[in-house]
Amino acid sequence: MSRIISGKELSIKLKAEMASQVATFPEKYGRVPHLVVILVGEDPASQSYVRGKAKASEVVGIRNTTILKPADISEKELLDLIDSLNNDPSVDGILVQLPLPDHISEDKVIAAISKDKDVDGFHPLNVAALWQKQPCTVPCTPKGIIRMLDEAGVEIKGKRAVVIGRSQIVGLPVAKLLLDRNATVTICHSRTVDLPSVTRSAEILVVAIGRPRFVTADMVSPGTVVIDVGVNRDPETGKLCGDVDYQAVEPLASVITPVPGGVGPMTITCLMENTIELFLRHMQEA
Ligand code: NAP
Repeated sequence: MSRIISGKELSIKLKAEMASQVATFPEKYGRVPHLVVILVGEDPASQSYVRGKAKASEVVGIRNTTILKPADISEKELLDLIDSLNNDPSVDGILVQLPLPDHISEDKVIAAISKDKDVDGFHPLNVAALWQKQPCTVPCTPKGIIRMLDEAGVEIKGKRAVVIGRSQIVGLPVAKLLLDRNATVTICHSRTVDLPSVTRSAEILVVAIGRPRFVTADMVSPGTVVIDVGVNRDPETGKLCGDVDYQAVEPLASVITPVPGGVGPMTITCLMENTIELFLRHMQEA
């Protein structure tokens, strides 16, 4: 078992497996899965994420359509576009890259995407299904985290897991997935009192805050499994860094994910997996 879980290497392996699977689809189903990604505006980080999704689709053999819209697109125009994609039988997955400009309600946009084409797993009905243990599309980042823990041979059952962050897209769903695997889960946030004493009790620590090098060595007990979800710019070097002070924490951790090359690649890989799952569901229903 490697101490440093490379999401990059695991992604390469999983994408190759998916590519073999997708190669069989034209003969079986007459076409390959189709993912549509909508990008509103020209935010460089969003542009880079969208490019990453197109590249991964190419590797896996999934058809990817990226639709670019100007930042001043009206909310109605965007909702109409989503509606037309919902009704297009050639489309299996729809993803609107977040964040959106202030004049567009993200909640409305997320709810407008058909639950059956919601590759991100953000639709309220998917969220409800996850919490009710019903069949659903599992959000990509939390799904990728569980995959990495499994790949590293980390036993989740019975462990004390601490999640810092309670966002709808990372903190809460990852806590739920850990709970479903029978970990005992504590969820921390900005109002948590004496955070270091809580994090030191963790056997598995998942950090999803969005603050460079926030988790320091004094917050981590020796032998902890540390999953760093954060994607930040280091204020000193301008390079990508996580929420964990990697240099200081790595020697203490039994297993740790790096940034970059950890959770990030697995998020995109799980997006590919979700697209294939939705495609297969559509083919079975057709
Ligand atoms: P978010 O919605 O801003 O949530 C941040 C969470 O951190 C909130 O729950 C907040 O608490 C908590 N928090 C903030 N300051 C804190 C503090 N001082 N002590 C304890 N908790 C604190 O962020 P997000 O969307 O979950 O993303 C978190 C990070 O993960 C970001 O860096 C983001 O870029 C990254 N991310 C990475 C991937 C990937 O694929 N690798 C995917 C998604 C997100 P309150 O609830 O009390 O405000």
